[in-house]
Amino acid sequence: MIRYNNLTMSKQAQINWDVIIAGGGPAGFFAAIRAKEVNPNLRVLIIERSSQTLGKILISGGGRCNVTHACFDSSQLVNFYPRGGVELHGAFTRFQPADTVKWFAEHGVKLKTEADNRMFPVTDSSDTVANCLRESANVAGVKVQTGATLLKVEKKTGGFDLEVREGAEVFPLHTKKILLATGSDPKTREMVKTLGHSIEEPVPSLFTFNVKDKRINGLAGVAIEDVTLKMDLLTQRGPLLITHWGLSGPVVLKLSAWGARILFDKKYRAQITINWLGDYRHDSTLEVLKHNQNWHENSRKKISTQPAFSQIPVRLWKQLTQFIGDKNWGDISKVEMRKLAEELTMGQFEVTGKGIFKEEFVTCGGVKLSEIDFKTMQSRIVDNLFFAGEVLDIDGVTGGFNFQASWTTGWLAGSAMGC
Ligand SMILES: Cc1cc2nc3c(=O)[nH]c(=O)nc-3n(C[C@H](O)[C@H](O)[C@H](O)COP(=O)(O)OP(=O)(O)OC[C@H]3O[C@@H](n4cnc5c(N)ncnc54)[C@H](O)[C@@H]3O)c2cc1C
Repeated sequence: MIRYNNLTMSKQAQINWDVIIAGGGPAGFFAAIRAKEVNPNLRVLIIERSSQTLGKILISGGGRCNVTHACFDSSQLVNFYPRGGVELHGAFTRFQPADTVKWFAEHGVKLKTEADNRMFPVTDSSDTVANCLRESANVAGVKVQTGATLLKVEKKTGGFDLEVREGAEVFPLHTKKILLATGSDPKTREMVKTLGHSIEEPVPSLFTFNVKDKRINGLAGVAIEDVTLKMDLLTQRGPLLITHWGLSGPVVLKLSAWGARILFDKKYRAQITINWLGDYRHDSTLEVLKHNQNWHENSRKKISTQPAFSQIPVRLWKQLTQFIGDKNWGDISKVEMRKLAEELTMGQFEVTGKGIFKEEFVTCGGVKLSEIDFKTMQSRIVDNLFFAGEVLDIDGVTGGFNFQASWTTGWLAGSAMGC
């Protein structure tokens, strides 16, 4: 357990802080540590509403913390951000996953890369990451006040006047620079509006789909490696997992992220098209099916037990071919064959609601990006006001991209505030 040399709030109110950071999450900690690294003489205070800092890190990635993603090319990296990709392009040229890996290694945390390029601490424990950040902040001389909620920010000549609540008391604090790193907190968004900023309305991103359909009934746990999903003009491809409630897996999460606003507007009721064969087209699928039918050894075998495509698990194949009944391959009509090709490459399914993806969850929406200078993360509207992390209208798909956005924007803000 690391102990901070905390001052009482009434003492803190007497200090003219150089930097106050609202929000003790990954973005806030990274910014604070970086600011002290650039200028060790700065007086830097993090105020955190909860009784403990870095709460989301502790629960992230199923308790393992997916710190970043092994994608080291900025132009590729931006493609994983449904919102913020364009703005992050320049930012990633200054601090990207390779820098994150290096930073953590230098601070005693070795990361490993898994088969799907997600990066975790070798300990497989979120505690390692949270403790590293807390210890680095402590060593750098960052003061941390937990149980302290920022209520109000007012711009004054030479800095900002803040109101911060601790318990039943409200204290006035003063600072030259302020960083808002409060994540998806709705009250901060209102505060941000009073400072003249605009907010892109928040809606959830990264969720699973509720789908009730006899074709997937009873198949919870069945996984298919390469599936294409379409909704309106959006298309995503990747692994899919059938669950008790419907559909999950990387391809569903990606579609939920890119379609976050569309799905919100549709009240999470939408029609999706599934190609169970990845990129197979209807005509080429029909060819394979015909070939399968003509193959003399197959003609006397039941279609339901003889999948024509090895990538489709037998249990799923059985349910997708249910409409044909108990026929042998040799007895299927041309119409049934065409319908089967359609079922395999463009099956229609109804999404009836959204489910929760327990390993990661983010909000799409936040402070409008055109109002921020992405070289410094400083507001273009109010001097010495900075933003980092999920408070901004940035979100990535699942895989470590959301933390990476926090490390990058936190590091840039800290670099600028330290000058
Ligand atoms: C269950 C779960 C698992 C996740 N797993 C991953 C993962 O493995 N990889 C990944 O990349 N992303 C993951 N994410 C997303 C990731 O956690 C966020 O993108 C990231 O935490 C955002 O960091 P932040 O510092 O901007 O905000 P936060 O982590 O939300 O931190 C903001 C902090 O500000 C505090 N705060 C809010 N308002 C005030 C106020 N008025 N005054 C003082 N303090 C305030 C909050 O209490 C909070 O501690 C996960 C999210 C969830 C919910």
